[in-house]
Amino acid sequence: MPELPSVEELLAEAVEALGGKQRPGQVEMALAVERAIRTGEHLAVQAGTGTGKSLGYLVPAVRHAVAEDATVVVSTATIALQRQLVDRDLPRLATALKKTLGREPTFAILKGRRNYLCMHRVHSGAPDEPEDEGLFDAFAISRLGRDVKRLHEWSSDTETGDRDELVPGVSDQAWRQLSVSAKECLGVSKCPIGVDCFAERARAEAGRADVVVTNHALLAIDALEGYKVLPDHDLVIVDEAHDLVDRVTSVATAELSTAALAIAVRRCGRQIEEDVADQLSEAGEGLEIVLSEMPIGRLDAMPRALAGALAAVRDSAHRCITALGPERKEDPEGAVGRKLALALLDEIHDTAVRLLEAFDEDEAHRRDVVWLAGDFRDDSKPPTVKVAPLGVGGLLRERLFAPRTTVLTSATLTLGGTFDALARQWGLPASSQVPVVDATATEKEVPSDLSAPRWSGMDVGSPFEHGRSGILYLARHLPTPGRDGLPPAYLDELVELVNAAGGRTLGLFSSMRAAKQASEAIRSRIEYPVLCQGEDSTAQLVKKFAEDVRCCLFGTLSLWQGVDVPGDSLQLVVVDRIPFPRPDDPLASARQRAVEARGGNGFLTVAATHAALLLAQGAGRLLRSTNDKGVVAILDPRLATARYGGFLRASLPPFWTTHDPEVVRAALKRLDAAASA
Ligand code: SF4
Repeated sequence: MPELPSVEELLAEAVEALGGKQRPGQVEMALAVERAIRTGEHLAVQAGTGTGKSLGYLVPAVRHAVAEDATVVVSTATIALQRQLVDRDLPRLATALKKTLGREPTFAILKGRRNYLCMHRVHSGAPDEPEDEGLFDAFAISRLGRDVKRLHEWSSDTETGDRDELVPGVSDQAWRQLSVSAKECLGVSKCPIGVDCFAERARAEAGRADVVVTNHALLAIDALEGYKVLPDHDLVIVDEAHDLVDRVTSVATAELSTAALAIAVRRCGRQIEEDVADQLSEAGEGLEIVLSEMPIGRLDAMPRALAGALAAVRDSAHRCITALGPERKEDPEGAVGRKLALALLDEIHDTAVRLLEAFDEDEAHRRDVVWLAGDFRDDSKPPTVKVAPLGVGGLLRERLFAPRTTVLTSATLTLGGTFDALARQWGLPASSQVPVVDATATEKEVPSDLSAPRWSGMDVGSPFEHGRSGILYLARHLPTPGRDGLPPAYLDELVELVNAAGGRTLGLFSSMRAAKQASEAIRSRIEYPVLCQGEDSTAQLVKKFAEDVRCCLFGTLSLWQGVDVPGDSLQLVVVDRIPFPRPDDPLASARQRAVEARGGNGFLTVAATHAALLLAQGAGRLLRSTNDKGVVAILDPRLATARYGGFLRASLPPFWTTHDPEVVRAALKRLDAAASA
């Protein structure tokens, strides 16, 4: 193959073909990704909104794939970005570079098996196993029936079987009837419908593509769970990398409930001796009694009664697995029921073992945290024992970084001025960069026998002039927030700010309760409409907010990260309090204790890092295009006064900062007047 043009030349060609203009940060990023590919050194690259980061990594990735006849995996956290890559960026890029590269680069999207319709289920019918109370309700049954009927009809129209392409969607319950997990799938060689399988077709297509777009969960399953779901690849680009640790943690979290045990007993049905299934049933009853006497929350030791109940679950699940025996070739239909039962029994057995081993090590060296979730008063939330990894750095280091070059990118990767806080969570060694603030995370390295992966961090900046376009207002004069809802002084301040801005406000609250309280309290005091999350789908609310410039939108977590509203509709972002994890959050509190047990500063390493990431994301909602201007107002005075405030402030974009409410109100009024003119 003739020598391909350089990354710089390809990028210039792509940008011109797409009608954009050269951006220095984008060029810098593309060259850094190309260097990472060449040297094998991992790269963390922070690229602010408006840098054009997807082209910044796609151009060197596509060049590498074509030159080496290799597959590159691009992983995202959200469906929105996945869609943007597959529906817009990649098709345009492929057309733009076709001539120069000598052929059109190819790409494919790959999701978990559960996201595709299972044609074997469509043909053979769903298993008869009501899994929750909803099914005893006549209305739910008829809705389920309608949804399943629609899925059957759709199965002969769809070309992909991809759930995201079904509009409007169906309930999870209906989808579960006609889809299978990877463990429940019969396997393409044994499945009578294997050749028509949507999931298999998507995998085959991905295997032939230059670029495979997937999500962090599938990336984690491929890397951590020991069975290959992604095609062989030597380069992975993790976009929205600020979310990687949470997504990987979710994949590595397991749970055990009495409901799951009851389903496993039903799935065993007549396939095994009744008395073997009865033992699993009795173990489930024993577990239920023990759980009903335990408080909800984190466990710091394994109670003797729970250990006994878990051992009974482990042993009886094992007996059922043995009783199901090896697969019988002469009985293909029986294989479906056996596979379904086995998938769940394996999960139950392995989770019971993991729970029983969770407290073997001392606190500084434990790998897992265990807690009891649910609500005894609410039948829809029965108590469940959960187990999650305290950290995923070791796993990522061993399974993600060691076998391939990894590029991690996002608009928010530096916290407190360095990449170290996130690098530590990814299992990468801290860089030699000196922290820019006095209070910073002090986690000690988790011991590892693997040699430290080499990596570098790069901030390619942002096309925005934060110091000229945005004001950070720290309301130092307000009282410290307490536990009893928003103090009256906060509501007064909020009213004055919203009035000065003429609406146009995104309120980011640390709890749904606070968002509702603020919405209700200020509706009668201002003349602008206030939408509150939960009153409609979030997508609809954001749409209304973007269309009506006078409108305000208040809400919580998903708004912190998911709102992209450029222009005059959003000129004020208000944050009620520093978003530390809740003190009763089992995972965060256990992570904090583990850091402390190793001699580090748990609060800064866990709670402040969590808050810094969310604050940076929330503040990032303000400037979405180069003409945007506005104010980020933080009502929690601790950001200005507490020692850790420096670390948090250094995690925010470099806005011009003030503590003076009059200066801010005057600025907001000027912006409102300019926007209304
Ligand atoms: S191979 Fe698996 S997912 Fe595909 S149709 Fe068969 S059982 Fe369903």
